[in-house]
Amino acid sequence: MRALYVCRGGEKKVKILEITSMIGCENMCSYCPQEDLVSAYTSPKTSMNIEDFKYFLTRVPKNVILSFAGFSEIFSNKDGSLMIREAITFGYKVMKKD
Ligand code: SF4
Repeated sequence: MRALYVCRGGEKKVKILEITSMIGCENMCSYCPQEDLVSAYTSPKTSMNIEDFKYFLTRVPKNVILSFAGFSEIFSNKDGSLMIREAITFGYKVMKKD
């Protein structure tokens, strides 16, 4: 998970947590700074699994929208669809955009 930030939608403030579930997206779209991300990342763990995700969710307030539009394609992660289902099951609003 990469960042927590606040957007303004009219008068309403919305908290969004952007999720990057793995480092190094296999799609390598020309406009995406994947090489910068990979070179800056230093942890040996490069992929989030469903157990990691469940652990992180216990620390995220329910009014935060989960955005699966971080610096990786969520469906390239073998647990990606499970993460989305888990988030919805736990009552989070989710969004995905690439
Ligand atoms: S994260 Fe999205 S934009 Fe970036 S390479 Fe992957 S699919 Fe393309």
